[in-house]
Amino acid sequence: MDVAERQSEYGRLESADAADVLAWAAERFAPRLAFAFGFGPEGCVLFDLIARLELDVDVFTLDTGLLFPETRTLWRRLELRYGRTIRAVRPRQTVEEQAAAHGELLWERAPDRCCHLRKVEPLARALDGHAAWISAIRREQTPSRAQTRVLESDPVHGLVKINPLAHWPRARVWDHLTTHGVPVNTLHAHGYPSVGCVPCTSRVAPGEDERAGRWRGQGKSECGIHSRPRPDAVVEDQVRGAAR
Ligand code: SF4
Repeated sequence: MDVAERQSEYGRLESADAADVLAWAAERFAPRLAFAFGFGPEGCVLFDLIARLELDVDVFTLDTGLLFPETRTLWRRLELRYGRTIRAVRPRQTVEEQAAAHGELLWERAPDRCCHLRKVEPLARALDGHAAWISAIRREQTPSRAQTRVLESDPVHGLVKINPLAHWPRARVWDHLTTHGVPVNTLHAHGYPSVGCVPCTSRVAPGEDERAGRWRGQGKSECGIHSRPRPDAVVEDQVRGAAR
């Protein structure tokens, strides 16, 4: 495939249907393809597609030890409904061990450090050995996600990153979930459009941004697992290299 053909293939992916993007990714990268599933509505769309298309994807979640009971219930419901395991990736320390080593309530005093210990480092471990990973982020979600492309180069992990829903509006996510009867977190119906760890998630008032309840008042909007991508040329090299 020459440069022009490659560019047109990558350009096509930017507006392709999520199912086509996932199928493309599985064809190129499986079995070294992972999906980091955070149990949000967008992730439920992708898990539904991955399961129904029977794609060879390592689906895992970052189990921080601080998830809501409702999130754990959704985890079990999805595994039962689709007959697929969602692998748990855990921090090196339990919540109690972290408190002993770093002090109680680290999430209040140093949330970036807490996220590093409970999400960023475990993600790096989970992605080790993979060639590409799938994320459920959308451009509309936050200003820092506004430049998200479907196909990116993740500079931190040195992998191809695939964001099949980058261009989806929120309404389309919910339309898919309703149409296909996909289970979702029951907290969404109770004022929590975005759900993370218990200590760092609060209810959102009508008219507030959907992620306003995450790390409220702490000047933080991301846990640190989504970094700025590298230029497009890098991802082309990575796709070629990984497909060899
Ligand atoms: S979201 Fe909060 S509790 Fe969870 S890892 Fe980050 S700082 Fe810690």
